[in-house]
Amino acid sequence: MPRTRFVADLHLDAARPEILGQFRAFLDATPGDVEALYVLGDLFEHWVGDDAPSDGLELVLDALRRLTRRTPVYVQPGNRDFLLGQGFEARTGCRLLPDAVVMDLYGVSTLLLHGDTLCTDDVRYQRYRRVVRHRLVTGLVRRLPLGLRLRLARGMRRTSHRELARKPSSIMDVNQDAVLQALQRHGVRRLIHGHTHRPGIHRVETAGGPAERFVLGDWYAHGSMLECRPGRCELLQLDPAGLPAGPLSAS
Ligand code: MN
Repeated sequence: MPRTRFVADLHLDAARPEILGQFRAFLDATPGDVEALYVLGDLFEHWVGDDAPSDGLELVLDALRRLTRRTPVYVQPGNRDFLLGQGFEARTGCRLLPDAVVMDLYGVSTLLLHGDTLCTDDVRYQRYRRVVRHRLVTGLVRRLPLGLRLRLARGMRRTSHRELARKPSSIMDVNQDAVLQALQRHGVRRLIHGHTHRPGIHRVETAGGPAERFVLGDWYAHGSMLECRPGRCELLQLDPAGLPAGPLSAS
């Protein structure tokens, strides 16, 4: 039976070699009946440009290249790796997706988002996002010398850690109105996203009837994915060999 897989928030970084290994194993173990793998943002902990040295990530990039020779891999930008570009596509064979995508998932129109745009209670973050993700700003940043981009990225990570520490956890989750608006704007009854690191399956009541929201897990303690087949989607935990090891216990 055909199936489609979704992952997000891997935050791949040379500092966490066990997760790099698990993700490589997961890619290589992709069965032939998987029609596509979607990465819904934050594949990498940081990505300052396709020209930066990919220190420690070469084996992962190679594994992506191996998989894309037989299965399409689509990558949405996250808040950490929105500078992924054509160089990354050429290196891995992955195809980059826009911020919001509606796909036909076995007969159900499904909206794919990283998820940060749904966290509208975090007003400071949304303001920051509007600036750094502005087309003119990203265009300018891409042209900065690499050394300067690396310094900027370090500064942004420090700010983000400081912000995380001082924000109440409620404002880090999605805002229900933002979810309803996104479903309505795109005319869909199903949404898949990551970013919040709060995996789960939620029923949403909309004016047009019931809808569902699937939240992907992060890859900090272990890998996980959402696997969809005609008529059913499941959140699954992965073992160290990158193979499904039962349902993901929701946080
Ligand atoms: Mn994120």
